[in-house]
Amino acid sequence: MTFMKNIKQSVRELEAYSVKSKPLSPDLIKLNQNENPFDLPAELKRELIEEFLQQPWNRYPDVFPTRLIEALSQFVGVPMESIIAANGSNELMYSVLMAIVSKGTKVLIPTPTFFLYEKIVKILEGELISVPAKPDLSFDVEQILATAAKEQPTLIILNSPNSPTGQMLTIENVERIIAGTDAFVLVDEAYIEFADMPSVLPLLKKYDRLIILRTFSKAFSLAGLRIGYLLAQPAVCAELLKPKIPFTVNNLSMAAAVRVMGEKKLISDRIRYIKAEKEKLYRKLSEMNEIKVFSSQTNFLIFRTKKNAKVLFDRLLSENVLIRDVSSYPMLENTLRVNAGTESENTVFLTAVQKHLK
Ligand code: PMP
Repeated sequence: MTFMKNIKQSVRELEAYSVKSKPLSPDLIKLNQNENPFDLPAELKRELIEEFLQQPWNRYPDVFPTRLIEALSQFVGVPMESIIAANGSNELMYSVLMAIVSKGTKVLIPTPTFFLYEKIVKILEGELISVPAKPDLSFDVEQILATAAKEQPTLIILNSPNSPTGQMLTIENVERIIAGTDAFVLVDEAYIEFADMPSVLPLLKKYDRLIILRTFSKAFSLAGLRIGYLLAQPAVCAELLKPKIPFTVNNLSMAAAVRVMGEKKLISDRIRYIKAEKEKLYRKLSEMNEIKVFSSQTNFLIFRTKKNAKVLFDRLLSENVLIRDVSSYPMLENTLRVNAGTESENTVFLTAVQKHLK
């Protein structure tokens, strides 16, 4: 283990990423990663593979995935220079933080939230400033504003709608947070397509310190192909592109993302279905006395159990129902997370919960 002394201390101190899981199989009810329960239609997949076969595999893809960025520009309604596409939005979190965070850089993050931001800040030896949610798990906006004013962070990371809580900030509150400091404000909108409240996109024209992240992994059914994108003013994008790993958008994923953006009805029907199923899950879980369920602006829900949540998680898993134990997050003791699946998957989940709560 003599190599260990050569590993950065900030990396040695990290815990390895581990999620309690089971291998994919047709009878696994998989509701643990907030994915879309529907794959793309087989015909569409076949067409994309045919197109991919015509392309030269020995050549690099476009370093700037122009076709994808053109399509995104039309789809989102921002200039091409305001967009960076990547191999999932996780990659863009690294790019943004590489550009902004060095040793001691203050980064304000409301908690509990998506684990990756904190992890990257730690690797880069930034200084984490956490602002806990209110007891009902909503964002504590006044506390965020007060802490930002006092600490003067360089970067504020807002996951809105937030994983794992499902809570969302209003556009007015995001604007207050941007206007209240001179920090960069990164808003991760991975779940925005499921929200009833508006995106912060209209603020992009006004603020050069706003950076928005989006993904094709949730509403667009492409988690396995890894496409995410970033929106910011052109001058900001030009800087954020510098530390980005080149060529991370491959030709197949690019073609799939472009194609999916053209399937407006398919995508909006799926979003409507998933939102309705999530509402149904919320209603049914609310009827169970042993559970407190929290409202959510995403495609998933969290619920707190009176008894040991881990036991319920394990019992569900023994019946091939895989959800997520989020109890180790701050403020989320005895809390589990489930995403909306298909109607039949959700019924199996609800029946299993009812059975094992007793
Ligand atoms: N942001 C949040 C808040 C997420 O929950 C997830 C999915 N786990 C992602 C980003 C990941 O996005 P991508 O698949 O585009 O890397």
